[in-house]
Amino acid sequence: LYVDHPLGEGQTVPLDRDQAHYLFGVMRRGEGDTVLLFNGRDGEWHATVQAASKRSGLLRTDEQTRAQQMPPDLWLLFAPIKKARTDFIVEKATEMGAARILPVQTAFTNSERIRQDRLQAHAVEAAEQCGGTYVPEVANLQKLDRLLSDWPEDRHLMFCDEALVGAAQTLGTVGGNKWAILIGPEGGFSDDERTRLNALPFAHPVSLGPRILRADTAAVAALTVWQTTLGD
Ligand code: SAM
Repeated sequence: LYVDHPLGEGQTVPLDRDQAHYLFGVMRRGEGDTVLLFNGRDGEWHATVQAASKRSGLLRTDEQTRAQQMPPDLWLLFAPIKKARTDFIVEKATEMGAARILPVQTAFTNSERIRQDRLQAHAVEAAEQCGGTYVPEVANLQKLDRLLSDWPEDRHLMFCDEALVGAAQTLGTVGGNKWAILIGPEGGFSDDERTRLNALPFAHPVSLGPRILRADTAAVAALTVWQTTLGD
């Protein structure tokens, strides 16, 4: 269970209404039962339920069961698409070990806004489900242009575009440990964006094969390619 609370030995951890509902209502745990907790910073802890009610609860940590594991320093930039498919991208990026998820607005992006809090909650659920100890931060929607103007010099960008021929295997020869993946919207990138992206010194244009993948498929494929060529 994810808690936004410090974890250490003998730590008392309060549960809010949603967490109490999940743990005591859905998972049927009660007083004296044990639970595994993580907060994304302090590893995984074994805890015992001290008090349980419909609206709240109290846990007490016993011992650490796993040290904190940090994912590779990999960001996923993607243009949000339909709600269910955007949720899918956040869920899969969390499972695949992205450290940050950044929804970006490109020339052909349809949605003007996202529900950042909902997407962050999806990342928490996905981290709980896959047994990770880390939850990626989901950023608010920002303009791709602005993000690229302010780009950290030491971070490589895997620029995925179906109009390219660059083989993904060449990524392995680039090296570096700070990376980002960029996936475009359903309408793809505009000519101006392509020209700009292809000219960026830190961008590595990559093809994910001869077929046009949906943006959500492309995100999972790109994360897999990156993990295979550069991940640990
Ligand atoms: N509008 C484009 C078209 O119809 O030709 C398709 C865009 S595609 C649905 C969405 C995004 O997925 C693209 O912007 C790109 O980032 C990624 N993508 C899809 N297929 C790809 C491929 N074969 N190689 C690299 N990236 C791909």
